[in-house]
Amino acid sequence: MIKNNLKEVRNTLAEGVCLVAVSKYHPIESVAEAYAEGQRIFGESREQELRIKHDALPKDIQWHFIGHLQTNKVKYIAPYIAMIETVDSIRLMNEINRQGAKCGRVIDILLELHLAQEETKSGMTTAECLALLEEGEWKKMPNVRICGIMTMASNTDDTDRIRHEFLQARDFFNEVKARYFADCDTFSIKSYGMSHDYMLAQECDSNHVRIGSRIFS
Ligand SMILES: *Cc1c(COP(=O)(O)O)cnc(C)c1O
Repeated sequence: MIKNNLKEVRNTLAEGVCLVAVSKYHPIESVAEAYAEGQRIFGESREQELRIKHDALPKDIQWHFIGHLQTNKVKYIAPYIAMIETVDSIRLMNEINRQGAKCGRVIDILLELHLAQEETKSGMTTAECLALLEEGEWKKMPNVRICGIMTMASNTDDTDRIRHEFLQARDFFNEVKARYFADCDTFSIKSYGMSHDYMLAQECDSNHVRIGSRIFS
């Protein structure tokens, strides 16, 4: 039996916060163990690793894609992915729409924001994201459903900085919600918070956390 900290982590989540158990780099057995404890939502960041796990594990698992997604990989995950959290261009969104149509699915996505100070992190600036939404092409994509925003805070011990970024994410969500999705109940997800900062994320209104190392150690 593989030990995990699923129960401990669950006990620290606020009411209504969705837990994505990030299983990347962890073996199939670890996922199976968490599944046996009732966890159904898992996050993976590489298409190949995800494919192997998807094939091996129960089909009622909801897989969330949380890594950088190349457009040429969309076709492999489109038939089964529950949510793509890392959409950072109209090009990628178009491809998701195209592949969703091919397999008769509406694919849930999040808009990935770049708020951290590191240059290496992917995602759109708030300005880029607003430009994408304002341009409006997404409204003509029946096989894509925009469900909210996703971001990663800076990888730092400076909690003030992390809080600042999470509050930026919250404010941006509220702005986008009011401007483009006021009548759309499904635009509701604020995906921020990882192992080291999810308690802070919850204080800043996150309702969807992605936790890996805290669970699978
Ligand atoms: C790996 C990863 C996580 C989980 O990180 P931990 O620190 O292990 O909790 C969350 N989100 C994204 C985008 C990741 O790549």
